[in-house]
Amino acid sequence: MSTTTSSAAGPAGGRDLRPPRSGRSNGQWLVDGRAPLNPNEAFKQDGDPLGARQRIIDAYASAGYDAIPDDDLHNRFRWWALYTQRKQGIDGGRTAQLSASELSDRYFMQRIRMDGASLSVEQMRVIGAISNEFARGTLDITDRQNLQLHWIRIEDVPEMWRRLEEVGLTTIEACGDTPRGFLVSPVAGIDPEEIIDPSEAARHLHDTCLGDPEIVNLPRKFKTAFTGSPSLDVLHEINDISFVGVEHPELGPGYDLWIAGALSTAPFLGKRLGAFVRPEQVPEVWWGVIRIFRDYGYRRLRNKARLKFLMAQWGPERFREVLEADYLGYALADGPAPGPPRGCRDHLGTHRQADGRYWIGAKPPVGRLSGDVMLGLADLAERVGSDRARTTPLQNILLLDVPAERVEEAREGLVALGIDPDPGTFTRGMLACTGIEFCKFAIVETKALAARVAAELDERLADADLERPLTVHINGCPNSCARIQTADIGLKGQIITVDGERAPGFQVHLGGGLAAPGHEEAELGRTVRSLKVAADGLPDYIERVVRAYLADRYPEESFAQ
Ligand code: SF4
Repeated sequence: MSTTTSSAAGPAGGRDLRPPRSGRSNGQWLVDGRAPLNPNEAFKQDGDPLGARQRIIDAYASAGYDAIPDDDLHNRFRWWALYTQRKQGIDGGRTAQLSASELSDRYFMQRIRMDGASLSVEQMRVIGAISNEFARGTLDITDRQNLQLHWIRIEDVPEMWRRLEEVGLTTIEACGDTPRGFLVSPVAGIDPEEIIDPSEAARHLHDTCLGDPEIVNLPRKFKTAFTGSPSLDVLHEINDISFVGVEHPELGPGYDLWIAGALSTAPFLGKRLGAFVRPEQVPEVWWGVIRIFRDYGYRRLRNKARLKFLMAQWGPERFREVLEADYLGYALADGPAPGPPRGCRDHLGTHRQADGRYWIGAKPPVGRLSGDVMLGLADLAERVGSDRARTTPLQNILLLDVPAERVEEAREGLVALGIDPDPGTFTRGMLACTGIEFCKFAIVETKALAARVAAELDERLADADLERPLTVHINGCPNSCARIQTADIGLKGQIITVDGERAPGFQVHLGGGLAAPGHEEAELGRTVRSLKVAADGLPDYIERVVRAYLADRYPEESFAQ
């Protein structure tokens, strides 16, 4: 059967950023008051969303899954990054027809937030052991640098948390309508080209804001990013607030402020406020912006509740005015924009650190590790004299502080663990979300498919002369956890009809990308009008697209053009 198809369907990925209707309450607390306008807002106001933790420890872990009320199970547990996992074997075509309870099995996904911290050898061992004992060996790196476990039983949650907390790790607010896990440059503090090291700013917020009752009930999630690397490595255009390192001509190093970026079904690139944030102003500015979101964010409709909808209405000038006048009480200096990106954004391979030692970036295909690989990584780190590893927003892992004389041994050890510092072009640029294996929203399978497709394309296109690795991102549903609008080739999972038969497939987006070396300006991928590709036809389709580009490109023309 043919594996690509055109249908009469309109363009996917709607871009409706209109605010909710005026003339009625849209649930903006400072405009409309706090009366909850939907069940989601009601449950957040009715009880402390973080209160579920104690009930898990005191009651549910001993009473079992069936004793958990729905409001805790499907709502409050998210504040501790526990999601019910998708029941195995449910066809993706039925996802939209079933309730959360019908889609859930009796196990949980657990996310551990990193916030840019390094994993010590001890932490790696604890996580590896938890994965093997409680999570059937599963362990993924998410696209927000977090770690994710599956198959967790409620009975094991208190012991799992106890072990994590004993080594300084937490799961608090890695999901829910909260300040989600921060993206922080994976080379913060070690990059010789770094403009400013944001580690301390991120750590300070991690230590002081998480669990604060003032911001435990936001309209929706709030994403934060920090980088001082000229490679612009934290996707600053698609976070709700991003601090991007710049050198101010008079004030020295600090941050350029970007606000309200987000993807999902209405993608929106964050706006520069043109404001310069001095390092010591970071906490106040972060608190000012998150309070604006809390106070003015739209709460009537959940699909209009992200900060981008407020920005689409206010614009960056008004946003800055409100921030300065009502939340900071002083004006921020004007400041420069980040320079053109340079360096290596995915941080793979061997790189000299500012202190003369080396970091080695390696690629677990589609971000998938395991308990055994994490334990192996801990042993390897110890053997080569490193005590630190970091995850990246591109689902890679970096081993830090390797002495020059141990670099070869470290590289060989990583390859032996299946995490290659020098992967093939398509393995390098492939990103996949969780997909139907575990996610209740999914329509199609993603991770195994992405790994297979990348390996096949690396073989088929080994001779291709590409100016940089192409990015291929695969989502299991219209949400955009794998950021399909920011890839050279973005694929949105859906059930399609091919030659009269229903099959897992993808809507294609082409030409997207965030600012990165080789791709200077952020641009959202364009939906290729009604072009859909069956999952089993992906290698053929991508090979055709790449070969057509190579055959027809003008000198200096990049794939995105
Ligand atoms: Fe789940 Fe959809 Fe997100 Fe993939 S994109 S992890 S399928 S919600």
